[in-house]
Amino acid sequence: MKYLKKIGNFLMSLVAPQVCMQCGADDELVCCDCIEKITIDSLSSAQKILAVNEYIDQVWIACDYDAKIVHDLVFSAKFYGSRNACRVLGEIMFRFWQVSDIHTFYQGNQFSFVPIPLHRVRRYQRGFNQSELIAKVLSEQVNMPISDCLQRVRNTKQQVKLDAHNRKVNVSKCFMAKSNTAPKNCLIIDDVVTTGATINDAARALKQAGAECVNALIVAKH
Ligand SMILES: [Zn+2]
Repeated sequence: MKYLKKIGNFLMSLVAPQVCMQCGADDELVCCDCIEKITIDSLSSAQKILAVNEYIDQVWIACDYDAKIVHDLVFSAKFYGSRNACRVLGEIMFRFWQVSDIHTFYQGNQFSFVPIPLHRVRRYQRGFNQSELIAKVLSEQVNMPISDCLQRVRNTKQQVKLDAHNRKVNVSKCFMAKSNTAPKNCLIIDDVVTTGATINDAARALKQAGAECVNALIVAKH
């Protein structure tokens, strides 16, 4: 019964964005209380990503994808085209920013957010890029610019359906910088990583275009 109620809240939140999809409170898509309760991820998933991806210097994973609320938000953003879900994911990222060491790492440092771009065909189908909307929330909160220097030159298959080796092949050389002047200090933003092959290829393209330090901040690891 409790499960049915949760599904009900989730469906309600899609049509009536003023209802919290987690607890049903008459508030936002996800109310402040429920955002506070989302578990911040441990360092171990970040270490796993770093171990196999040579171009990424540092990575932070904000929360656990197994948390149903995180899964539902990513799902709403990707498959229901919910911009509201992206905004909440951005707020979750900002909460992580405040409570984790990323805050001290970037204090006083000049850097640019680099959202992982979608291929133009997929962007057209979805109507927006979820990573860009997440980056926008962060950029406004911490007052740092967003760079659109990166482009996706190949429309790749969905990573979820592939094994680790084919993931790497699938995304190899799928990003390119628009010019040879990538920001010196980049912080890649993406919603979900699995092996990290996608953000690694983005980091490769940024470094080939002159970036010196490329880190990544991700909502969750699958
Ligand atoms: Zn709530």
